[in-house]
Amino acid sequence: MPNPVHSSTDDDPPGTTGLLPPDLPHFPVFLTAPDLSPWLEGNTGIAGFTTKDSGHPGPHVVLISLIHGNEFAGAIVLNEMLRTGFTPNCGKLTFGFANLAAFARFDPENPVASRFVEEDMNRVWDDIELFGVRRSLELDRARDIRPLIDSADIVLDLHSMLWPSEPLLLCGPGDQGRELAFAIGTPATVIADQGHAGGKRLIDYGRFTESPGRAACVLVEAGQHWELATVNQLRATTQALLCHTAMVHGAAPAASVPRFAEVTQAVTARTNRFVFVREFIGGEIIKSKDTLIAHDGDTEIRTPHDNCMLVMPSLRPSRGHTAIRLAKLR
Ligand SMILES: [Zn+2]
Repeated sequence: MPNPVHSSTDDDPPGTTGLLPPDLPHFPVFLTAPDLSPWLEGNTGIAGFTTKDSGHPGPHVVLISLIHGNEFAGAIVLNEMLRTGFTPNCGKLTFGFANLAAFARFDPENPVASRFVEEDMNRVWDDIELFGVRRSLELDRARDIRPLIDSADIVLDLHSMLWPSEPLLLCGPGDQGRELAFAIGTPATVIADQGHAGGKRLIDYGRFTESPGRAACVLVEAGQHWELATVNQLRATTQALLCHTAMVHGAAPAASVPRFAEVTQAVTARTNRFVFVREFIGGEIIKSKDTLIAHDGDTEIRTPHDNCMLVMPSLRPSRGHTAIRLAKLR
């Protein structure tokens, strides 16, 4: 049976993943999927997870890639670090490749098809799911990974995007995520949101949201999935985190204060006739309230406030999918 074609974005509500619309453009693949065979076994008892222990006190930092199987720019960066034998100066650093089963199905001729096998692995980080009885390939895998996440002080979740957008850091709903995102500082846009009622992302997981002042998790959306610039951004973000945690020597790159926005509205396509008035690029700011940005069938979609940031527009949304998030600059 052929793989279903998944079009959901990182923040789509659960249960809305469906077939891609037929007019989806061809997305060229400029990257080569890395050979992860040396790291499949790992050294943590969890396949695909390798921990390097400095032998000195310090935090446990987890760099996790491939939560979405076709977003391998992050895996390229982690593979590079592992191959060069990188070891942190302090604490412990774990390199993780999450959805290896989906990644193994990657086909550059149909690159959007291998986001996941059975369900989005970034929707299952809820105790009700993790400790429940329902099973899926991704849920079982999340259960395998969870003990390691529970031992982390800091997690950086490496992602990329289908549609053109400025790179951004998603810090979720908690203070600790926002503080970590500001400390990392690259990409220089930080977006806070409340997650989704029925499908928690890793950044929404209780360890990072229900225990103030403890562990922190940030998700980086570094650019389009298969672009070299995305790998470069993920390298820079990872380096900034390692500087921040003193895992590498040297000063952190000169960071400007990131711009910060909070999602005020997630717009879900109610029809299959959702059309933006033009091909917006994620990160654009619409200055005025009530500016028309899209039609959803007969319904006009307008900006709800001044200085409205367009977050990750999905330019061909199907009915039931998140078409765009709207955020207010703070
Ligand atoms: Zn992703």
